[in-house]
Amino acid sequence: MNGKKIVILGGGESGVGTAILAKQKGYEVLVSDFGKIKEIYKNVLRNFDIVWEENGHTETVILESNLVMKSPGIPDKAPIVKALRAKGVPVISEIEFAAQYTDAMLIGITGSNGKTTTTMLTGYILKQAGIHVGVAGNIGDSFAKMVATETIDTYVLEISSFQLDGIVNFAPHIAVLTNITPDHLDRYEYDFNAYIASKFRIAMNQTEKDYLIYDADDPVIVNWLEKHPVRSQLLPFSLTKIFKKGAFIAQNKIHIQTDNNPLNMTTQGLALKGQHNKKNAMAAATIANLLSIRKATIRESLEGFQGVEHRLEQVLKINNVQYINDSKATNVNATFYALDSMSAPTVWIVGGVDKGNDYRDLYPLVNEKVKAIVCLGVDNAKLMSHFGNMVDIIVETPSMSEAVKIAYKVAERGDNVLLSPACASFDLFENYEDRGRQFKNAVRNL
Ligand code: ADP
Repeated sequence: MNGKKIVILGGGESGVGTAILAKQKGYEVLVSDFGKIKEIYKNVLRNFDIVWEENGHTETVILESNLVMKSPGIPDKAPIVKALRAKGVPVISEIEFAAQYTDAMLIGITGSNGKTTTTMLTGYILKQAGIHVGVAGNIGDSFAKMVATETIDTYVLEISSFQLDGIVNFAPHIAVLTNITPDHLDRYEYDFNAYIASKFRIAMNQTEKDYLIYDADDPVIVNWLEKHPVRSQLLPFSLTKIFKKGAFIAQNKIHIQTDNNPLNMTTQGLALKGQHNKKNAMAAATIANLLSIRKATIRESLEGFQGVEHRLEQVLKINNVQYINDSKATNVNATFYALDSMSAPTVWIVGGVDKGNDYRDLYPLVNEKVKAIVCLGVDNAKLMSHFGNMVDIIVETPSMSEAVKIAYKVAERGDNVLLSPACASFDLFENYEDRGRQFKNAVRNL
């Protein structure tokens, strides 16, 4: 016992992982959840003999702790967080807490879209190269739990802005910033600059020995970097520009140039399709090149990676119509790239909880690629007013099976049916996974 008390707010994946690690490091631990803790997590807490409370916080006890780990889902405006801050108790995130207890190399991947794909792709290449890699963050087991229970050489961490808000010393050796588009603004007082600043915290503690890999086609990132330089070495990637150091495309080949041996490979060979996935591949390949992974391994991995569920996932071909599940597209930018990657006339299933979407960015793509729209949401008025005059067929339904049946009727041989909602899923579904699974089931039942 080191006599230190930690309170962990939130009894989900990152909270329970942190609790396990904190207990191992001699903290007195309390996990406190304002809502209900899931049974699977309660069982883990029981197994590790960790004290917990649910359906409310015991404020007097919590305010007496030396340290608080706040789970990413809990907003700063929660009364308990405000009370802790007022009292001067440090409130940190899981990555901040866990990073102190590992000597492994840390690779941190953040951005508005493409985090999971880039993280999984990077993890895949590293695994193929024989590195003992831990892929964590918003994916699978928490980082903290892995630090407590496994011996890992290199972590590839998917990191949200909420995790970054709670860092003090966390410094990844290699950071990736995939892109920054308006998302989650409700948690940033609708201040886009606050959200950008939060994303750039990934580079805040980096030094000259570290790297920041970023999308140089993204004006938000480029403008911010001009005004707020970072210490780490910059490795940009781009679909249109060419660099001495960084990743770019020339003559249909991806080129990766760092201080290590340069690498190139054809873009046709990439397993993941779409312009956005070229960017994700460039980011992952740059990391692999920095780690001196063999070129053949990098190429083969980029050719073999099968993609992640719910991200432009090819479901089935029926009557020569391709059904594609992009349920993870919960904002306009993700849907932009989905529509952009369609190479056949598309029946587009869209809708859900609109987080303040500006649909105008999609107009040219909808005009060019979309032949019919199925609005799948409780309130479709905004979609109807934006796209009503743009396509011949636009229908509304609150049911996934109905949406898929309509799409089936409208689609002709050679077309695509794309679920890419541009919206959150909570009006009709539990989450985006549930929405994607319902889509796939409906397609399989056609
Ligand atoms: P995240 O973890 O950041 O949400 P995902 O890899 O899960 O990112 O992808 C989320 C959605 O964004 C999917 O619909 C995917 O097709 C799309 N997407 C993936 N990479 C990018 C990118 N680099 N730019 C824009 N959209 C992307």
